[in-house]
Amino acid sequence: MKNDTALDTLPVITLRGVGPRSAARLAVLGIETVQDVLFHLPRRYEDRTRVTPIGALRFGDHAVVEGEVELAQLAYGRRRSLLVRVSDGSGALTLRFFHFSKAQQQNMVRGCRLRIYGEVRKGPATPEMVHPEYQRLAEGESPQVEDRLTAVYPTTEGVHQLTLRKLSDQALQLLEQDCLPEWLSAELLSTHQLVDLHTALRYVHRPPADAQLEALEAGVHPTQRRLAFEELLAHHLSLRRLRERARRLRAVSLRPGGELTERLIGSLPFRLTTAQRRVIDELLQDLAQTHPMMRLVQGDVGSGKTVVAAATAARAVDNGCQVAVMAPTELLADQHLQNFTAWFEPLGIRVGWLSGKVKGKARAVVLDELAGGGLQIVVGTHALFQQDVVFHQLGLIVIDEQHRFGVHQRLALRDKGRAGALLPHQLIMTATPIPRTLAMTLYADLDTSVIDELPPGRIPVQTVVIPDSRRDEVIQRVRDACRDGRQAYWVCTLIEESESLQCEAAEETARLLTETLPELRVALVHGRMKEADKAHCMAAFKAADIDLLVATTVIEVGVDVPNASLMIIENAERLGLSQLHQLRGRVGRGALQSSCVLMYRGPLSQMARKRLAVIRETGDGFEIARHDLELRGPGEVLGTRQTGMVQFRIADLIRDQALLDKVEQAAGYLLECEPQNVQPIVRRWLGKSVRYGEV
Ligand code: ADP
Ligand code: MG
Repeated sequence: MKNDTALDTLPVITLRGVGPRSAARLAVLGIETVQDVLFHLPRRYEDRTRVTPIGALRFGDHAVVEGEVELAQLAYGRRRSLLVRVSDGSGALTLRFFHFSKAQQQNMVRGCRLRIYGEVRKGPATPEMVHPEYQRLAEGESPQVEDRLTAVYPTTEGVHQLTLRKLSDQALQLLEQDCLPEWLSAELLSTHQLVDLHTALRYVHRPPADAQLEALEAGVHPTQRRLAFEELLAHHLSLRRLRERARRLRAVSLRPGGELTERLIGSLPFRLTTAQRRVIDELLQDLAQTHPMMRLVQGDVGSGKTVVAAATAARAVDNGCQVAVMAPTELLADQHLQNFTAWFEPLGIRVGWLSGKVKGKARAVVLDELAGGGLQIVVGTHALFQQDVVFHQLGLIVIDEQHRFGVHQRLALRDKGRAGALLPHQLIMTATPIPRTLAMTLYADLDTSVIDELPPGRIPVQTVVIPDSRRDEVIQRVRDACRDGRQAYWVCTLIEESESLQCEAAEETARLLTETLPELRVALVHGRMKEADKAHCMAAFKAADIDLLVATTVIEVGVDVPNASLMIIENAERLGLSQLHQLRGRVGRGALQSSCVLMYRGPLSQMARKRLAVIRETGDGFEIARHDLELRGPGEVLGTRQTGMVQFRIADLIRDQALLDKVEQAAGYLLECEPQNVQPIVRRWLGKSVRYGEV
């Protein structure tokens, strides 16, 4: 299919008017090929298809007018400006220029005719246009107006609007020569009522005068949806294909037979919920396969994911394989260590520990035991996957709370555990419920299980929203709760991003609270403390040797102290919903009625008010994540703003949600009936960034 002029490879520098310098600038906009020019869609449109009588102008309109200069004069107000009054018989309009050349001034003299385009604003005497585009007309001249709407493209420094217009003109001309293949078959187009690619591109760049501007500017015109559809399809396909390829990879089949899983479950002080049981069964079925499991377990905070992981780990150990359990922070890893040790050691299984802080001799011993196979389970942080860590036979990797990982990292981890041709199974757990829309485009390489039930006896956390002017009341609440033998968290969050400032604020708060509440045992944890001190402090809190724990958001995920029944969160209005939900999930883990106090500093913006209302009114993590997605976008929900994991050129996961069902259907159809088109579609939209599409 490829020929020399295929627009997806034709560099933009081959277009007229583009040299090395502008090519570099265009690259900033993601434009490197002619195809990129075509996928760089207008942000909005201007209607220059007709001349509007001046008398019919409304404020805020962008319009073309034509008229005769009645008066041109310099005005010396706060800033020197050139004022040009133009009239067309129906009314008068003033053009205002703050920057102008001598030539411009001499050009617009009384009696000459101008064709003008600009935005109409209210002026002191007549309506005004500030810095309009204009052109002087010769006697009797009346140039044609545009026959299509004028595209306004997103620009960047050094790339002019007119340049982009000229480039898209050229790209559209090349398109006429059929240089951009259609990868969606006639069949697919008609099933999903999509227009063809060429029509869609021509339309969005140069819409006809009677186009529905509103739909276009909202990005929901059928031609735009056609393009978004293909892009979403490409992302979905790349992950689906990855999943299919994983089915062809080999892993040790971890079979039933031993009894460790059942013995572990039998030794627990509680009965598993139906949901936990179901998810464990799903996981065990995966483990028995000869290809590596890649399964995501989603379960709201407190749904009991840890024990599900442990039961699964037991199956691996029963098969003579090792298990690596990884958490994102030492705090969490340490908690897993405690749980796993408590559950497994009585059964004669050894659990080891490896974090970045384990060094020297201790580290050498752990590494030795891992390589020799003496250690069956190892818990830790990223350190588990450093180069010098060698496993005897790693059968299963458990990753907790890792929703901040992208697909590349998932694959890298799996590859590190590779033993010859055999890959380890992978279980990923997350407490951030991932709305389906995101799951389909970002997690389609994973199978998913959901623990959709909380252990019995949990009472929903009561949430109240209180301004920080009522701090005294809040402190009284802490006093009362602790007097009744409960424990409390006080979470300090700061406006500043800086961690050190957060820690300082937490220190200050801890000091004040210690003074105000002398009868309580107050302690502090923050991110700047030594790991050992943190762990020590958490252990003391868990053992109820501390009443009030002042903390930064380090305790956001995973920490489990059932006797803690009160949580105070300062500056709650600054945090995302999912984060608030995670924090709140630290309480309500026992059989006690728990509460969460969201303190805010007024006045609240409308958005903040809305968000706090959501968190007050619902305890359902999925529902909260859906709101978060709508209010703040996918990057915030997943915490991937920095990593740029979610990047689409045209599609918008929120705006285009309704397309996702069709995308999923179309992907299934393509993989089955038109597999030859899969690769080209993925390549077109993910291009070079699609390393993971090639594994
Ligand atoms: P999360 O899903 O948030 O990681 P954890 O695994 O930390 O939740 O479990 C939360 C608490 O619930 C722990 O104290 C755990 O021992 C307890 N738990 C887990 N499953 C059950 C159950 N079926 N019945 C009662 N308590 C349970
Ligand atoms: Mg957990």
